[in-house]
Amino acid sequence: MRDDLNGAFASMGFEIYEGRELTTEQDAFDNLNFKDDHPARETMDTYWLAGTEDERAEKRICLRPHLTGASVHYLREHGAPARFVYPGRVYRNESTDPGHERAFYQYEALIVEQDFSFSSGRLLINTILEKVFGHPVQTRMRAGYFPFVEPGFEIDMRCQVCGGKGCGVCKQVGWIEIMPGGVPHPNVLKAAGLDPQLWSGFYINIGLDRLVMMRYGIDDVRLFHSADLRFLEQFK
Ligand SMILES: [Zn+2]
Repeated sequence: MRDDLNGAFASMGFEIYEGRELTTEQDAFDNLNFKDDHPARETMDTYWLAGTEDERAEKRICLRPHLTGASVHYLREHGAPARFVYPGRVYRNESTDPGHERAFYQYEALIVEQDFSFSSGRLLINTILEKVFGHPVQTRMRAGYFPFVEPGFEIDMRCQVCGGKGCGVCKQVGWIEIMPGGVPHPNVLKAAGLDPQLWSGFYINIGLDRLVMMRYGIDDVRLFHSADLRFLEQFK
């Protein structure tokens, strides 16, 4: 799925970037407009490196809880305009269930341009999903709130397992949440050294595991790390 997405984005002029799995509180939260008391910073959500939990900012080290910190690094290194994607594994200290795992994959894309419209972003999402699934996929956009975007949204796609009729994978609603996104918050652009009066853009953060679950009709994300050969051998 990651290779397919890399191919789809590369064909539209996106560069593929890699960030580090170990990161700092500065990168994971401060640069992304998370308030000091945001609950995601707590030990119950983030894996802090032993011995650094009581430090702050650049001295407090964690397993990255999301990929978004890499965007600021990329923009500082390459400047704007920019179109890039960055796939990778992220870590959350939370309880697991069929839809949630402690280590999972995200696939983030960011466009920074002087005037990139929301409707172009919507078209981009539908184009990517069509390339990956081999046929048009119905999507819907809802308002969503994330500290690093303003405005933010959530994209749902038609459940590809049941075609929208309702099944166990989509919890009978016929839709699956697959990506949050939005326009980069001015404070994020400032952290990246860009003038928010001049630059704008479009983030999407694809839940890669969910997309794989949709493609193969897998109903429990925990199977990916189960090391059960009967599961893995289906994909040889
Ligand atoms: Zn379904």
